[in-house]
Amino acid sequence: MLSTMQDEQLSLATLLRYASTFQGDSHVSTWTGDGVRTQTYREVGEDAARLANALYGLGIRVGDRVGTFMWNNNEHMVAYIAVPAMGAVLHALNIRLFPEQLVFVANHAEDQVVIVDGSLLPMFAQYLPGMKTVRHVIVANGDASALTAPAGVTVHSYAELLAAQSDTYDFPVIDERSAAGMCYTSGTTGDPKGVVYSHRSNWLHAMQVISPNGMGFTARDNVLAIVPLFHANAWGIPYATLMSGANVLMPDRFLQPQPLLQMMADQKPTFAAAVPTIWGGVLAGLQANPQDITHLRTCVVGGSAVPPAMMRAFQDQYGVKLLHAWGMTETSPLGSVAHPPVGAEGEAEWAYRYTQGRFPAGVQARLVGEDGTIQPNDGVAWGELEVKGPWITGAYYSPSGSAVDADKFHDGWLRTGDVGKISPNGYLTLVDRSKDVIKSGGEWISSVDLENAIVGHPAVAEAAVIGIPDPKWDERPLVAIVLAEGADAKPEELRDFLADKFAKWQLPEYWTFIEEVPKTSVGKFDKKRLRAQHADGSLTVITLS
Ligand code: AMP
Repeated sequence: MLSTMQDEQLSLATLLRYASTFQGDSHVSTWTGDGVRTQTYREVGEDAARLANALYGLGIRVGDRVGTFMWNNNEHMVAYIAVPAMGAVLHALNIRLFPEQLVFVANHAEDQVVIVDGSLLPMFAQYLPGMKTVRHVIVANGDASALTAPAGVTVHSYAELLAAQSDTYDFPVIDERSAAGMCYTSGTTGDPKGVVYSHRSNWLHAMQVISPNGMGFTARDNVLAIVPLFHANAWGIPYATLMSGANVLMPDRFLQPQPLLQMMADQKPTFAAAVPTIWGGVLAGLQANPQDITHLRTCVVGGSAVPPAMMRAFQDQYGVKLLHAWGMTETSPLGSVAHPPVGAEGEAEWAYRYTQGRFPAGVQARLVGEDGTIQPNDGVAWGELEVKGPWITGAYYSPSGSAVDADKFHDGWLRTGDVGKISPNGYLTLVDRSKDVIKSGGEWISSVDLENAIVGHPAVAEAAVIGIPDPKWDERPLVAIVLAEGADAKPEELRDFLADKFAKWQLPEYWTFIEEVPKTSVGKFDKKRLRAQHADGSLTVITLS
């Protein structure tokens, strides 16, 4: 028996129409260094139509890929909605990828047009000659004539191109399973892998983001989107803000703690989203120059584990809640969010807040043990996390259609590569990445647990732990410490600090002090580089007896 419900497609064109009319007074604004430039969602709708007309004029049709090489700003937001609404596919290029990876992804996705920020032109100019399928470059917020294009590529000014277009566009009705956008994983090994989101997946994901069990955006919010629009589908923020009518504040290229704090003081966002390294910088900035940030009702933080000490500092010293969430490029990315259950108070509430969070109904999750068996969700058993659901990828993009990394999928589930435990009431606690967990004498040590504990020491700004070969135990933890400015601490003192938090055999004997932890293109610890630094002898290791 079929239902009597209308067979309406979940489409980003419908979302654009809704946001630009019924939420038309809400706005996107971009920080300029000392203020903002603002566009209402009504104006976003008009510019989206202009951009769609312009792209159509340049030959873009349903299914064609349009790249962006941009900071978070008004123009990027317009592209985020205009490109899929016209049936084309948005490919936000990660400006921080290594050059060869960046050229690889543009060619792999077969981007036809790239919209580029003027301030990024010098960087983009180096990559453009390698991009084989790009025919048009549109320069926003800058001087198009500053770019010398290779033969066969035409350069346009965003402002001039849009000024010549109609502010209406007949957005097509397309199948909700069609591609809307794509993102490449920022993995540190092998070629980046492409994930293709659909209109349906983005729509359902946005509904989860705005739900109270997600990030809970409403039309009364002003969301500071620090997470780059080119990372992991921008955590769903562009579509979630358009859907909820929340205002969105874009930091453009002003991503250092001081300008972030300045824009917070000026614009009083109610919500913000960023990875832990950004929050660590903001915290240090606040400690140097205190300011009231209680206008932030919540800051969502994920991408790597959030040290409990950081969550406590924001709450206890600044009255602001850091909301821990877990996800991946492959999961759109919202996978779980750490809202504590009703009744959890005091330390019990904190214990829930430290977890990676509870899975929503749209994300099925299971743990697979080393022997391939499904582990119980008892909060104790560990296993590799596998997930499944309507906004979780079922494959990596393959232009030829042949399977890419088929071993990352298991009976229709995505293998996340994350090792963790799940409590009976659905909270995920990640123990480590499967390749980072340290196997010492047949027992596991979580590098993340050690890192989280060590950064609780006041002299420590950052700590990264890797496993290094050990003749007796196979592997032992090496702790790489970045000291806080002006601070000093000896390895003995740091190990003593850990003594009541870990079993004796887990306490690290190998320590090294470094200037900074190497980071990936999205600001995560690059443990592969740290391991290479250790292997080539460039780290001075202190061994405690
Ligand atoms: P990406 O696709 O770049 O967003 O990376 C996804 C990976 O980041 C996940 O598989 C996890 O290893 C890691 N990750 C994301 N969120 C968290 C979190 N809250 N805690 C620990 N690791 C996380």
